[in-house]
Amino acid sequence: MKRSLLMCLALAAGAIGPQAAPAGADLILHNGKVVTVDKRFSIHQAIAIAGGRLAQVGRNEEVLRRRGPGTEVVDLQGRLVLPGLIDSHAHPADACLTEFDHPVPPMECIADVLAYVKSRAQALKEGEWIEVRQVFITRLREQRYPTRAELDAAAPKHPVIYQTGPDAALNTLALQLSGIDREFKVADGGTGFAEKDPATGELTGLLRNCARYVKVKSPLRQPSSADRAQRLRELFADYNAVGLTSVCERDASPDEVEVYRQMRARGELTVRVSLSCHVDSAGPLERVLADIRKVSAEPLFKDRDDWLRIVGVKTYLDGGMLTGSAYMRQPWGVSRIYGISDPNYRGVLFIPKERLVPMVRAAVERGLQFTAHTVGDGAVQALLDAYAAVDAELPVRKTRPCISHSNFMSAEAVQQAARLGVMVDVQPAWLYLDAHTLAKHFGYERLRYFQPLRSLFAAGAIAGGGSDHMQKIGSLRSINPYNPFLGMATAITRKGKDYAGQLHPEEALTRQQAIRFYTINNARILGCDDKLGSLEPGKLADLIVLDTDLLTCPEARLAATQVLRTYVGGRLVRRTGVATD
Ligand SMILES: [Zn+2]
Repeated sequence: MKRSLLMCLALAAGAIGPQAAPAGADLILHNGKVVTVDKRFSIHQAIAIAGGRLAQVGRNEEVLRRRGPGTEVVDLQGRLVLPGLIDSHAHPADACLTEFDHPVPPMECIADVLAYVKSRAQALKEGEWIEVRQVFITRLREQRYPTRAELDAAAPKHPVIYQTGPDAALNTLALQLSGIDREFKVADGGTGFAEKDPATGELTGLLRNCARYVKVKSPLRQPSSADRAQRLRELFADYNAVGLTSVCERDASPDEVEVYRQMRARGELTVRVSLSCHVDSAGPLERVLADIRKVSAEPLFKDRDDWLRIVGVKTYLDGGMLTGSAYMRQPWGVSRIYGISDPNYRGVLFIPKERLVPMVRAAVERGLQFTAHTVGDGAVQALLDAYAAVDAELPVRKTRPCISHSNFMSAEAVQQAARLGVMVDVQPAWLYLDAHTLAKHFGYERLRYFQPLRSLFAAGAIAGGGSDHMQKIGSLRSINPYNPFLGMATAITRKGKDYAGQLHPEEALTRQQAIRFYTINNARILGCDDKLGSLEPGKLADLIVLDTDLLTCPEARLAATQVLRTYVGGRLVRRTGVATD
């Protein structure tokens, strides 16, 4: 290991001095358009790789001087080369298991949901639980939850849970089996309630921020750790197919960390994995702080492995924008879509300031990146305020403090993030899929700082792109879609599915920025920009060859970009489509 590293460093150094005798490279890609994503966004013709690292980028004739007897040489025929793409927010270990038991059809309307519930009722024994998860109401044609009566009619003899995040719609049997009746109250110190019909006082079946009270006994086949590794290998092959070479697992459980650790030990990873370890914010504060500190003692945090490493901790600060529970600065407003009847309702904040500040401090003290699921502008402000409070005694910047999602911001929040060195991982696919519902509910003006990417770039804050992939394998059929070219196209066009026009085009990224968003910016967020995120000598050779020139193609072509070759550490892990040599 050490010797090859020294050799690589020597090669890297050789690349700088024009007189250095070029050593034989393992691989040369030439006659292309190599977008380095270095500081100046410089573009070259060719690239040489040796010992898994980038040895040189430059003009064809310079780089080809490194050709030796064992060098593989690929003529790119003008194709675009980018650094391997990085997704800074996904849940691959969970997502790959969604269909482990049975295939789950796409659901685009209430009838689809009810048809699926009926089919499960036929497949399962009476009394067994039917689970529908993360089918967001904002993405259903009717834009509402299925009612208790509808779920009862579809499956009268099975308990049914339709869950999105902390919220759920239940049928009558599910309510009964969970012991949820008209007297039900949340008793664990959290927020949440079972909604009642204002006219009759009967439960509607909708649980706000208390789906944790549902006593689901899953009848689904449970995967062994070998099954989990197998599914992850399949998913990572698909990540590679769409150009992803690194991903951040943004809520890893100890079991999941173990699956990754075993895959790493067996050399099975084809995607580099960063881990944000899950921290439960409920319960005694001392226990929560001890859990945070424990993460910093993990060898995966202390040893900087290039394939698998812990970057920090993740928790949940508010609800979601797809479920009507994100914590907003202004009331959500009465809504049929989200089932909101209280005109003062602002959503739910899970962690009060007196707990959040010590949690952030515990992470910063140990050098851990802190991040929290933070969607509403009220929650974003609460987390920024917590970072500012800790920063007054202990600089937070070098731990790359993060806000995950950060969908709703304000002009002040953008500036404050830049000032404190707070970074954001943002999911453009949410704009793509949900703009039509959000605009219908909030109106255009209130979405002025929805995913304000251009403002963040202009302020000098670091924003990186991610998918929040949580279900299924398949870059466009997954929830959420993890195709990074769809993400780039959305960040560039601000256009959404079923949404006419552009959502605040003044927040659109340029093409260069969109490329930075999925490469070097994510490397910065994950603390590996010294090794990844750009094509500069000495860095790890993660790169992709595309069929489309993202810098010049028509806008309508961006999202359909295909990856022809994916290299991780100089190794070709995926080759598809049109031949390049
Ligand atoms: Zn997530």
